[in-house]
Amino acid sequence: MQVTIIGGGLAGVEAAYQLANQGVDVVLYEQRPIQTSKAHHTEYLSELVCSNSLRSNEIGNASGLLKEELRICGSLVMQVADKNKVPAGGALAVDREKFSQSITKIIEEHEHIQLIRQPVNEIPTKGYIVVATGPLTEGPIADSIRFVCGQDYFHFFDAAAPVVTLESINMEKSWWASRYDKGEKDYINCPLTEEEYHRLIAFLVQAKKHKPDMEGEEIYFEGCMPVEEMARRGEKTLAFGPLKPVGLIDPHTKQEPYAVVQLRIDNKEKTLFNLVGFQTSLVFSEQKKMLSLIPGLEEAEIVRYGVMHQNSYINSPLLLGSDGSLQADPRIYFAGQITGVEGYIESVASGLASAWSLAAKIHGQPYEAFPDTTAIGSLMRYISTSADARYFQPMNINWGIVTELIPRIRQKKLRNEALGKRALTDLDAYINRYRSQKK
Ligand SMILES: Cc1cc2nc3c(=O)[nH]c(=O)nc-3n(C[C@H](O)[C@H](O)[C@H](O)COP(=O)(O)OP(=O)(O)OC[C@H]3O[C@@H](n4cnc5c(N)ncnc54)[C@H](O)[C@@H]3O)c2cc1C
Repeated sequence: MQVTIIGGGLAGVEAAYQLANQGVDVVLYEQRPIQTSKAHHTEYLSELVCSNSLRSNEIGNASGLLKEELRICGSLVMQVADKNKVPAGGALAVDREKFSQSITKIIEEHEHIQLIRQPVNEIPTKGYIVVATGPLTEGPIADSIRFVCGQDYFHFFDAAAPVVTLESINMEKSWWASRYDKGEKDYINCPLTEEEYHRLIAFLVQAKKHKPDMEGEEIYFEGCMPVEEMARRGEKTLAFGPLKPVGLIDPHTKQEPYAVVQLRIDNKEKTLFNLVGFQTSLVFSEQKKMLSLIPGLEEAEIVRYGVMHQNSYINSPLLLGSDGSLQADPRIYFAGQITGVEGYIESVASGLASAWSLAAKIHGQPYEAFPDTTAIGSLMRYISTSADARYFQPMNINWGIVTELIPRIRQKKLRNEALGKRALTDLDAYINRYRSQKK
């Protein structure tokens, strides 16, 4: 039985290596150098298109935990990254050229992998497939993905608002409510006085923006216009738009504020919240300053910054199982950023999890998803479930999406260490179960 993988990026190579090491023959298609994207510059597999940092390497950090879990699972990308690291303090940064060259060599030489340098225009109608074409997917393969997903829900632009943790929101200044008190109290509301509102607008119109990496013009879809662009359109545009206060009475003052910033639940566990209407292309340091001007969010911890760039991803919560397989056609798997995970290492984790499930399927063994106490399992759960699939947005690994500890430890550092320890214990037991099934 053979698997076709489309895309030799971070997710595709990890999936290929994991399948091949479990005795499955893989044909890996990579379009470069025949065809390339706006961000890739070389012909190497697993190219790092931007930063050479894979972020924190410390277990007390969710990103560090994810890397450690991948090491334990025998990840190719982690092995090569560790061998090619360059000094970067607590982070893991790599020599990008050596990193990608080395991965390319290992894949080219693997006895169970055939690498074909050719673009794939259509998802094959037969056989097992892993689609790992990344955030810059376009052209005929994008049409084919839309077709197999059976709907038009395929984002091209990531117009995302910052996401913050619940525990970092000051609830003494904000309150839970829905507009006009309709239904459940689903939103956290941060009130602004007239003076605070104008201070925020004055900041937004002059704040520093990322140059959009989309080619050329800045064209925005109505409904996902950056908050700074709305502020520029007029002093009161936001007050009559996403910051309108109508139907929201502040219980602290018993009055309707001049303006209100609403935060919407972002995950099923209700530990993460996104700022309604605050999709932005401001540089990250300016996003921090922006929050510091909103009462209740002065100390908010941002787990995902707002971005505005091309990012093709499917609506995974409606489409995928927690193993990355397409519910409507389980011989097709999706892996990497196209599933709505965000980041290099998250894409690797998604490739690995999809491959383990697919290998079990091919070998006729039952498959158990990664525990959701682990970082890998949490990411897979995040993409396959969502508080509201209409607002599904790509996500980095962070503690907010990992199942909480019971009882909860109040002190953050101790809590994160305990979460890391629990994850590694559960992963160890999980791997033992996975391996014993193969005997
Ligand atoms: C501009 C930009 C900057 C980013 N910067 C960072 C960053 O600094 N840090 C970070 O953690 N994440 C970053 N990301 C997000 C993300 O982590 C990376 O894009 C990551 O490479 C995603 O891994 P992937 O395997 O899903 O996709 P990719 O690594 O992009 O791999 C997809 C592969 O599929 C190939 N392919 C596409 N279509 C076809 C086809 N039809 N046939 C055959 N092959 C095909 C592509 O050539 C590519 O090699 C960035 C994303 C973008 C777009």
